[in-house]
Amino acid sequence: MSHLFAFVRLLEEGPQINGTRDLIVQASYLAASILFILGLRSLTRPDTARRGMQQAAGGMLFAVVGTLLNSGILTYQWIVIGLVIGAIAGYPMAMKIPMTAMPQFIAFSHAFGAIAATLVGIVEYHHAYDPQMGAPGLSHGVAAALGFEVLFGALTVTGSFMAFGKLQELITGRPITFRGQNAVNLGLMAVAFGCFGMLIYQPETAWAFYSMVALSLFLGISMVLPIGGGDMPVVVSLLNSYAGLAAAATGFAIGNNVLIIAGALEGAGGFILSVMMSKAMNRSFANVIFGAFGSGAPAAAKAKGEVKESKTISAEDAAVQLAYAGSVVIVPGYGMAVAQAQHICRELMELIAKKGGEVKYAIHPVAGRMPGHLNVILSEAGIDYGALLTDVDDANRVLQTADVAVIIGANDIVNPDAEEDKSSPLYGMPIFRPWTAKTVYVIKRGKGTGFSGVENPLFFKDNTLMLYGDAKNVLGSLVKEIKALDDSH
Ligand code: NDP
Repeated sequence: MSHLFAFVRLLEEGPQINGTRDLIVQASYLAASILFILGLRSLTRPDTARRGMQQAAGGMLFAVVGTLLNSGILTYQWIVIGLVIGAIAGYPMAMKIPMTAMPQFIAFSHAFGAIAATLVGIVEYHHAYDPQMGAPGLSHGVAAALGFEVLFGALTVTGSFMAFGKLQELITGRPITFRGQNAVNLGLMAVAFGCFGMLIYQPETAWAFYSMVALSLFLGISMVLPIGGGDMPVVVSLLNSYAGLAAAATGFAIGNNVLIIAGALEGAGGFILSVMMSKAMNRSFANVIFGAFGSGAPAAAKAKGEVKESKTISAEDAAVQLAYAGSVVIVPGYGMAVAQAQHICRELMELIAKKGGEVKYAIHPVAGRMPGHLNVILSEAGIDYGALLTDVDDANRVLQTADVAVIIGANDIVNPDAEEDKSSPLYGMPIFRPWTAKTVYVIKRGKGTGFSGVENPLFFKDNTLMLYGDAKNVLGSLVKEIKALDDSH
């Protein structure tokens, strides 16, 4: 209690006293760090995720306010200009961006975070050896922190812009490869780390510092070039981790605690997420980074698509079967997110449940275009967390006894080739097995492939019936037909 009173007294004395000001800054940083950790914890469950975002945003507010109170700030002019430009550019982008474009938006914003970290590193290094600043020099420890910061920061800048370009389809999303690519990348990395070592050994070696920046910028491009297809989110998440590590190193270099903590959280979080996503696709982390996933996929798709035809069913007939089904498993995918069909899907689920059917949702870890994409969408529509089957094995067990499996805008996550065709780029990814249900309905607009670009043999199985159309429209028709059944009785 006495500490609290002391703190309040210090606040009352005003921030003009440097000691008090520093205390307020550190207290803000502490509050920010606590809120970041609580936010991350809340983000682990869909039903508390919204609160998690609010906690994290509150944490960021404390961090920004604390930083603005820093006694080292000489003028606010440029800070205000930066804040205004950032807010004008960032607010509409964040409000208007569709959920389906989130991965590229995240990559884009990471690039700017990394630019900030890299520029801070370069300016700090320049000041350390600027005669006009008294050329104070750098200790080996600070040189290591600065070197680490620009090494990972510069790599993240160009890597994130490349990832953005690929995901936004400004450049091809497929892997771009050439002979000896991995050897070239490893060689460049070795030279960059050599420069880093030199910098730590002799911090005044400017050529080592600036060569390292240039090599890292180049490495960001060359490392993302051979990555494509469904591996891009893993890369975005890995770059997120690098940006966090660069921020933490910035914190060490300029003595800022909140940067160290937030950077470490981001670094660890991004890395864990990358590993979890690789695991969900049953790929080793090294295979994702060096495997050039997705190259050659279109040829496979073409060869398979030419020979087979799938069967269709009308919404009217499908509605009858759904209305009298004892158990239904809905498998939503990226197309559901594109169509924003989650609300009408809940309506359908409620109608089936009213008629005595049990409805579950099978949510694949890489369904959609970002981790948790479908969880977020379904929870936004108010679908109970208890109705979600998020474990692939559990979902497959439920599918075995289901009357109907309804695939809504999903493709890769229900592709049997992932288990049966060793030449498929999806081979090894754990998938749902909807064909083990009595009947499978697939709702999609046409013959489009999924993210991996390969054909899906599920659509040609004996018990699969296609309901072609936009997911929202098709589900709307199903709801209408089931209601019409009620009216006619
Ligand atoms: P897919 O991308 O495999 O398939 C989506 C399907 O939805 C397409 O076949 C498309 O077919 C259909 N579709 C598109 N728009 C609509 C619409 N309006 N109405 C109805 N259907 C529509 O999606 P999945 O969710 O099955 O798989 C996700 C894929 O994305 C995986 O390969 C995964 O690795 C990858 N990935 C995952 C990320 C993650 O973190 N979750 C991030 C990035 C990639 P049609 O055009 O015929 O309608």
